[in-house]
Amino acid sequence: MKRVKIHDKEFELFISHEKIQSVVEQMAEKMNAELVGKNPLFLCILNGSFMFAAELFKRINFVESEISFVKLASYVGDQTTGTVKELIGLNEDIEGRTVVVLEDIVDTGITIDNIQQQLKRMNPKEVLVATMLLKPDALKKDVDLKYVGIEIPNDFIVGCGLDYDGHGRNLIDIYSIVKE
Ligand code: 5GP
Ligand code: MG
Repeated sequence: MKRVKIHDKEFELFISHEKIQSVVEQMAEKMNAELVGKNPLFLCILNGSFMFAAELFKRINFVESEISFVKLASYVGDQTTGTVKELIGLNEDIEGRTVVVLEDIVDTGITIDNIQQQLKRMNPKEVLVATMLLKPDALKKDVDLKYVGIEIPNDFIVGCGLDYDGHGRNLIDIYSIVKE
């Protein structure tokens, strides 16, 4: 089994690039049928989702669609709110629009739940979530995920945009941590 070492940890090949591509292809086909005519705004959540977003968006086959890139910035709120994660970089007016959030992975669901809540305050027509990967066993929030690529076990993975302490995003396959 193909292995890679990142910092202090070993990872082994888990999902091939070919598999990822065929799954993303299927997701795009569904979107092409369901979102055509809606002029959707795809929102790529940086950093992790950039590869998934690129693979997906080049397979969207209608030109009336847009993509934008946003980030979650953590800052320490007041004593009652603790650490707040604010969506930054959104310059588009999303009022009345179909927004498709592109996430690399949904783990506990806390991040995507938070993003959805922030977007909904801006009065979009609808907020749909597309995630390349989902860890169903880790979910803590009841989130509505419209497009899900691959369900995976609750193990730490890297590759295809996902990192371990900054490294591993450029791996074209997905690797799972080796448990000693
Ligand atoms: P959640 O809020 O759903 O628990 O976590 C979502 C975020 O945690 C993802 O967008 C991703 O950045 C990070 N994450 C969750 N699981 C993994 C994983 O297995 N590997 C990596 N590299 N990041 C993960
Ligand atoms: Mg992410």
